Amino acid sequence: MKKHARVVVIGGGIAGCSTLYHLTQEGWSDVVLVERNDLTSGTTWHSAAQVTNFGMNQTMVGLKTHSINLYKELANDPAHPINYNHADGGIRLANTEQQMQGYRHFASMARGMGVDFEVIDAKECKRRHPLISTDNLAGGLWDPLDGDIDPYQLCHSLTRRARQAGAEVYTDTPVTALEQYKDGTWKVITEHGDIDCNIIVNACGYRVNEVGAMMGVHHPVASMEHQYFLTEDIPEIVDAGHRMPLLRCPISDYYCRQDKNGLLIGFYEQNCKTWGMDGIDPNFVNALCPDDLERVADVLDGAFERMPALMNAGIRSIINGPITYTIDGAPLVGKIPGKENAFCIIGLRAGLGEGGGHGWLLAQQIVHGEACYDTWCIDPRRFTSHTNVEMTSLKAIEDYQNEFRFHFPHEHRPAARPAKTTSLTAVMASEKASFTVINGWERVEYFKPSKDFQPSLSFHFDETFDIVAREVSNVRDNVGLCEVNGFNRFEITGLDSERFIDRLFCGNITHKPGRVGLGYLLNDFGMVKSEATIANIPASDRGPNRMWYGSAAASEFHDMDWLSQHINPDENVKIKSLTNDQTTLIVAGPKAREVISACSREDWSKEAFPWLSVRECFIGFSAATVMSVSFSGELAYEVHVPNSSLYAAYLSLSEVGKEYGMKLFGSRAVESMRMEKGFLAWKSDLLTEFDPFETGLDRFVNLNKDNFIGKADLEKRFKHGPNQKLVCLSIDCNHAPAHAGASLMEDGKVIGTITSGEWGHRVNVNLAYAFVNPDKSEIGNKMMLDLLGEMIPSEVIPLGPYDNSYSRILA
Ligand SMILES: Cc1cc2nc3c(=O)[nH]c(=O)nc-3n(C[C@H](O)[C@H](O)[C@H](O)COP(=O)(O)OP(=O)(O)OC[C@H]3O[C@@H](n4cnc5c(N)ncnc54)[C@H](O)[C@@H]3O)c2cc1C
Repeated sequence: MKKHARVVVIGGGIAGCSTLYHLTQEGWSDVVLVERNDLTSGTTWHSAAQVTNFGMNQTMVGLKTHSINLYKELANDPAHPINYNHADGGIRLANTEQQMQGYRHFASMARGMGVDFEVIDAKECKRRHPLISTDNLAGGLWDPLDGDIDPYQLCHSLTRRARQAGAEVYTDTPVTALEQYKDGTWKVITEHGDIDCNIIVNACGYRVNEVGAMMGVHHPVASMEHQYFLTEDIPEIVDAGHRMPLLRCPISDYYCRQDKNGLLIGFYEQNCKTWGMDGIDPNFVNALCPDDLERVADVLDGAFERMPALMNAGIRSIINGPITYTIDGAPLVGKIPGKENAFCIIGLRAGLGEGGGHGWLLAQQIVHGEACYDTWCIDPRRFTSHTNVEMTSLKAIEDYQNEFRFHFPHEHRPAARPAKTTSLTAVMASEKASFTVINGWERVEYFKPSKDFQPSLSFHFDETFDIVAREVSNVRDNVGLCEVNGFNRFEITGLDSERFIDRLFCGNITHKPGRVGLGYLLNDFGMVKSEATIANIPASDRGPNRMWYGSAAASEFHDMDWLSQHINPDENVKIKSLTNDQTTLIVAGPKAREVISACSREDWSKEAFPWLSVRECFIGFSAATVMSVSFSGELAYEVHVPNSSLYAAYLSLSEVGKEYGMKLFGSRAVESMRMEKGFLAWKSDLLTEFDPFETGLDRFVNLNKDNFIGKADLEKRFKHGPNQKLVCLSIDCNHAPAHAGASLMEDGKVIGTITSGEWGHRVNVNLAYAFVNPDKSEIGNKMMLDLLGEMIPSEVIPLGPYDNSYSRILA
């Protein structure tokens, strides 16, 4: 066994094998895989191994397409072909118009990734899958490339190729401990000796937390028992003369594919069961959980009704094995938060379909620091410190129970809530707030007209439309108050803090105490990494002059990782997170100045405290840091207060606010207003796939600065010109917003992709942001939006159509 390697991948299931293979594809050959038993002896060996293109966003579709292309290539390897039933086709069934709407959206989204789904009616479903009945069936989504693969052959094929490229694989080699050296490199201790390495990868399937514990990490991954059975031959299949397409059913929660001349049917029962919560038997290897078909009785009936031929089929064998889930259904693929040189590829619940793609994106991240797609949807840092064992299990159960039921826009499922609250959560609830969840925080979406108000789940505008419109109009005409909890904020101190921040941002940062600025951080390739507000807080009796860094609510671990890793060893810089210590109250609207003035002794006049100012003061009895910044396009103040006096600050503001018609508003109103004002949202419109010029952030870039992270590559990109441009669109449709991922079309070709869409209540326009081909980005350009299957005329309009002169913010 080697004593040193560049990377050690721990775990030889599909996740580890794919990572190893792709590391060699990226040019790293000094890589090894260590496996405690045999390759595939965890979950992989008994997988139903269906391989589909279907995904909830473009990154997921793109990585699945990579799996399919790779598997096809491996299957056609003349020396070592593997069994891959490629392109049998598959149908996701639906029995409601709302589900069909969703499928139409997913078809529009996938088209932008070169994937052609088809939305078909019930009759066509039956024509393509003759075994099904059309009772209670609206139709389905057809994936022409659906199929299934032999998981054992797949993993051996990947490792064979990796070995040919120089990688080594050690089976029967359990990792028993991990130690990190002072320089950040690792010692991997195994039963057969130690390997020193630069980077480790946890790919340990359901044993993820055994290996996590070896490095002092708990990963939000839980295992569920999951069953399928295989039938004897079914005469209708024998007679059909062609392979049956796959089926996935959100109505009765099962999937089904052909296996030999019978069927394989797997179930997602409501009465489901977590597994391995109290530790896993070390001898559970190539093993299964006891059969328990009783548990799936509820969903079995639905499968019988849909496929009557099943009722006469004998059961050949039953498989019940552990399958891993995270708290939002997507896996954790990327850097382990807070750990240097440590990555993971875990929580895969559809690892055979996705594993090829996840290993590909992970290897790119390890070798280059970034992947070709924005990987936030699978980034382990998207969850922060609240994801304990209980939350993970409850979310895993909920996700398992809803396996094929996609989330509708604004659908927030109830399990494991609330996790993060403030002293205002109960106050807002008593005001009939409807809450969304942002990184565990219960954040107000809007205020319901009645306690039991429940809007329908739909891709169309729903019953909240007028409610949000009223909240917006009160902000426009009077003044509104909004609690924004979980906003990420760091205090950056130390002699070199300004120099450090200057290097991180691609534009100028404010060096003047008392001023605030917005800026952008790029990755090494000159692409947009983060967006942050920098406030230069003057020295006061609360502390010395210091820099305050504020960014999106979910970015705490992500930004902390990025910032910490860029402090040079000789720099005196300290970063302290205040994310969980403070909450923001936004006071926005033409009467905001009156409200703030009445709560505090300071001079809030335009002259004394102009736009983009910051000061420390008191709001009522609460110490506060107030900034004159606006996401709404109205005169506004962000009041950042310690959580200990949040309620007090709220009482002061709301008491005074009564006189000015102040009303509460929520994040849906904010979303509408920020789109009207041309402001962008992190990980919706601000993505690592685009540089700041493509994203329309030219005014935030200063290429004359001595240096900043990503500058060299950005200069090259600037010379080359943009590949895509962000634009604002007006959508000629009154019944539905443009959904993220939807395709913009011209002459049957995709020319752009929506990133955000919302009705602009003040300008009365259905607004969207999109990245489009640069030659289509001129104001006035017209194109068609594939909106839920309908072709809707859309036109490029100026970004920020509301109050173009900023007269309201500057009032
Ligand atoms: C019944 C069932 C049906 C499924 N059907 C499908 C399907 O149709 N399509 C699909 O895409 N997915 C399906 N899945 C899910 C899929 O099988 C998994 O997502 C995938 O196999 C997970 O692979 P993995 O590499 O992450 O984990 P595993 O296969 O569990 O691999 C982890 C490896 O790590 C090793 N390991 C653990 N600890 C150590 C250690 N200390 N030292 C060294 N090695 C260690 C283990 O021995 C194991 O080999 C199904 C799962 C089940 C249970």
